[in-house]
Amino acid sequence: MKLKKLFLFVSAALLIVTASACKKQEDASGTAAIKRAGVLKVGVKADVPGFGLFNTSTNQYEGLEIEIAKLLAKEILVDSGKVRFEPVTAKTRGPLLDNGELDMIIATFTITDERKLTYNFSTPYYTDAVGMLVKKSSGISRLADLNGKMIGVAQSATSKEAIDAAAKAIGVTLQFAEFSTYPEIKAALDSGRVDVFSVDKSILNGYLDSESVILPDEFSPQPYGVTTKLSNKALADYVDGLIQEWLGDGTIPALIEQFNL
Ligand code: GLU
Repeated sequence: MKLKKLFLFVSAALLIVTASACKKQEDASGTAAIKRAGVLKVGVKADVPGFGLFNTSTNQYEGLEIEIAKLLAKEILVDSGKVRFEPVTAKTRGPLLDNGELDMIIATFTITDERKLTYNFSTPYYTDAVGMLVKKSSGISRLADLNGKMIGVAQSATSKEAIDAAAKAIGVTLQFAEFSTYPEIKAALDSGRVDVFSVDKSILNGYLDSESVILPDEFSPQPYGVTTKLSNKALADYVDGLIQEWLGDGTIPALIEQFNL
């Protein structure tokens, strides 16, 4: 009888140890909350061709960042369809990650030393550069033409610092007008309120039309990383491992080619 009790006690103890080991293993990838929810919530751009673009004729998101999100959903939830896309801007993406509405951001989010203090970033999956969109009729053809000109930039973006540093380096002084969204900057360019719309070239592509041109000058490399909460280091490491794997095995390079980036 005593032996039977001892056996039961040992079995129960073993069960608890195994269960907590399993839980630890699940937590090791930081994906427990996503698995519980059964869906991966990802902040993406809706207006960046080839990266994150909402196609109004198919009602679907498309681009490199969309495909990366689907690949991550396949790894975490065994189904590339279990992903919910949420359109974000440079201004809204950080707060949406902070308040837990989103699990990650894959939205032309440039990795900077300053931002690394607030968020976790994966290894870059793509590196862009800051550029300039001007009206063809402006006669502006390079950065050196911009002395005293008004530059439209987005709040919370890296653009202002990048173009200002590049201009200062060649003795050019700029003026700035800051906006919360890109459509507002494009409207300001069209109305003549600003002379230049400056942000990453990939983003400018979404606003290019027959009246405007993206200048060849570019500055300040913009490495894009998958962004996750600073508190979930396990998730960041897990995502980074996958991004590195997909860079190495050709998966991401093939997508970059597929979207002509
Ligand atoms: N990529 C730049 C940034 O992260 C431009 C802003 C944006 O991504 O919308 O600041």
